[in-house]
Amino acid sequence: MVMEHVAVGLVEGDKLVGSLRRYPEKEDSVDALLSMPADQIAECIRQQLESIAKGEKIHAIGLGFPGVIRDGIVEDSPNLQQVKGFNLQGALAGAVHVDGKEVPVRVFNDADAMAAGIAATRGKLHKLNRVWTLGNGIGFGRFPSSEGVWEGGHSVVALDPKENFCGCGGRGHLEGILGYRSMRLRFLDMEPEEVFANAKVGEARCAEFVAMCHRALAAATATSIHMEGPGPFYITGPNAKFIDIGLLERNVHEMVKMSPLQGSRFEVIPSNDELGVIGAAVNAERAALPS
Ligand SMILES: [Zn+2]
Repeated sequence: MVMEHVAVGLVEGDKLVGSLRRYPEKEDSVDALLSMPADQIAECIRQQLESIAKGEKIHAIGLGFPGVIRDGIVEDSPNLQQVKGFNLQGALAGAVHVDGKEVPVRVFNDADAMAAGIAATRGKLHKLNRVWTLGNGIGFGRFPSSEGVWEGGHSVVALDPKENFCGCGGRGHLEGILGYRSMRLRFLDMEPEEVFANAKVGEARCAEFVAMCHRALAAATATSIHMEGPGPFYITGPNAKFIDIGLLERNVHEMVKMSPLQGSRFEVIPSNDELGVIGAAVNAERAALPS
């Protein structure tokens, strides 16, 4: 799983076997991947795979990676732009062999991997599960995965042309409001953590922004409900801690009024590499192995 860092683990069924390895090992070096060329990121993942797979009978390798992924190629990745166009699946092919045969590698969108991990560990593989991952980027994941692009984080939620903080360059995007990098660009004088803390004690500019964040996430969620119907929505990633579920639900309720579309449920799941790793494995098993 590659989000703010690389996390690798062995999965059997819907459970992690042993502990996760991560690169970089230190929590504070969150931007280590930002400055790393694409082939070095691939090499780093490859080394992690080789070391964890040693002596294990691996059937499939799944990788969750931020961006638009098609046939193993990262077609775009606004928050890791150096990887745009890179054939990640190709670069990792042959990283692990079992009985002289290459173990198949499949690459998925990181938020899709999260959705698969949540669905698998909760016994919800038969249902539509949607997840928002809140970090530098805003990911939208769904399980079961379905043909399409699903860049829900770039949903347009504001019509003001001055809303231009999204990493992809598009105006009015959810990520341009709620993405960590975008928040730093908007509030040059304070960190996002301070913005949310100041809002709690009633500082007007911060409180107004926090209200807008919740309306923005509610708006993108409402669009998803209007397109695909109601259901469970999970919110995770390093910045899920900023979200007030009650406020989000009230906002969605104001935006979704048709009776057949009622009944969505929201849950915050604290940032969790484990679920992403499990989900990448679950998706890889389904994609690469005959059932
Ligand atoms: Zn965007």
